[in-house]
Amino acid sequence: MALPKKTSKLTAVATAVALAVAPMSALAQQAKGPPVIRDTEAEQLLREYTRPILRSAGLEKQNIQIVIINESVFNAFVADGRRIFVNYGAMMQSETPNQIIGVMAHETGHLAGGHLSKMREQMAQAQTQLIIAMLLGAGAMVAGSRGGNSNSGLANAGAAVVAGPQEMIRRTLISYVRQQEENADRAGVKFLNATGQSAKGMYETFKRFTNDSLFAARGADPYVQSHPMPAERVAALEEMARSSPYWDKKDDPALQLRHDMVRAKISAFMERQDTVYRRYPLSNDGLPARYARAITTYLHGDLRSALAQIDGLIQVQPNNPYFYELRGQALLEGAKPAEAIAPLRKAVSLSNNAPLIEMLLGQALVATDNKAYTEEAIAILRAAVARESEAPLGYAQLAMAYGRKGDFAQADLASAQAAFLRGDNKTARELASRAKTRFAVGTPGWVKADDIVAAKPLPGQNSN
Ligand SMILES: [Zn+2]
Repeated sequence: MALPKKTSKLTAVATAVALAVAPMSALAQQAKGPPVIRDTEAEQLLREYTRPILRSAGLEKQNIQIVIINESVFNAFVADGRRIFVNYGAMMQSETPNQIIGVMAHETGHLAGGHLSKMREQMAQAQTQLIIAMLLGAGAMVAGSRGGNSNSGLANAGAAVVAGPQEMIRRTLISYVRQQEENADRAGVKFLNATGQSAKGMYETFKRFTNDSLFAARGADPYVQSHPMPAERVAALEEMARSSPYWDKKDDPALQLRHDMVRAKISAFMERQDTVYRRYPLSNDGLPARYARAITTYLHGDLRSALAQIDGLIQVQPNNPYFYELRGQALLEGAKPAEAIAPLRKAVSLSNNAPLIEMLLGQALVATDNKAYTEEAIAILRAAVARESEAPLGYAQLAMAYGRKGDFAQADLASAQAAFLRGDNKTARELASRAKTRFAVGTPGWVKADDIVAAKPLPGQNSN
């Protein structure tokens, strides 16, 4: 995804909904790839990190999603009460599972505290106060200028009245945010204690961001901006964290390895090749280093060497679905779709039918141009999009499979769904309108097409 020319690196997909809420910086930097990173291995690990915390927060039924944002700086935030957003940079900068788990616990504290809706109320209230203050101030200024002398004390008093309440409101908001942060810290530590985990990682991470640290001095870090970290907050967190019986509890070595594998994968996909080799030099024969080098070798075009390295990885962990996924992806992108099918089948089965991997398998089946695979491809892709309805890749491949079968109504509908998820509403409407003419009125396909024709663009999205 850092490499926009190739298609399915990390199976990077921009979802329409995620686009609507992605931070401006992500939208402004479209050139470097889509705003959201999709990868089964990374998502699965983050889900496992977060699941016990959500459960202890009483949020396990809410189906909270974890979304990985294509940003290298450290950030994590909640924006809509349904998703926790994490920059891939936060994964890269978290050296242990416990560090990123602490961040997720803090964010869950915001979710559980309903801080989002409260914040909105507070903002609305502040805005009202501001308008009243402006009216009062403007009145004073008008009164001053009527006196004929714009430098009169009264006119200046008007300006002061405007500035005064604004500053007051700003301070109110800051203290409100600070309060929310402290509440989220407390809730986060509580969730960690309840799940038998240490809050040391959360403390270590936040300590890095204290107001007098280098991070804060840099000023541009989004996490510092949204998470003011005065020294007393970090001190309070440290005290809470140290009083836990789990303070010294270490991460499970198997989990640490999975964490290191995901960081190696992110580095290999997102960073320059020389950076990857600096982090993971040939002298390092650990599994994460070998994983990173295998990926960067395939990305930079040496398929034969990449496959040999991947086979070496499979020898060490013969039941790791992501090694087979990587093998299949390398072959698929190396224009060998028929050879990609076997490893992708294995990856699908070892991952308990992970939908993003099913989409890759569907893509390989379609790419063979072998009609014998068409029905199977359709069945697999339909199952995948039913469980993963925000990834346009599945619908795009489904459209090709239906086209091959000569089912142009379903092909148009699937193309329309893919366009809609990419945020291209104009194309989505055109294709859905055409699909409607191919289906009998009132059939399920017709209804779905009609929904797309009638759909309003999501907020923040262009209507074209
Ligand atoms: Zn926070």
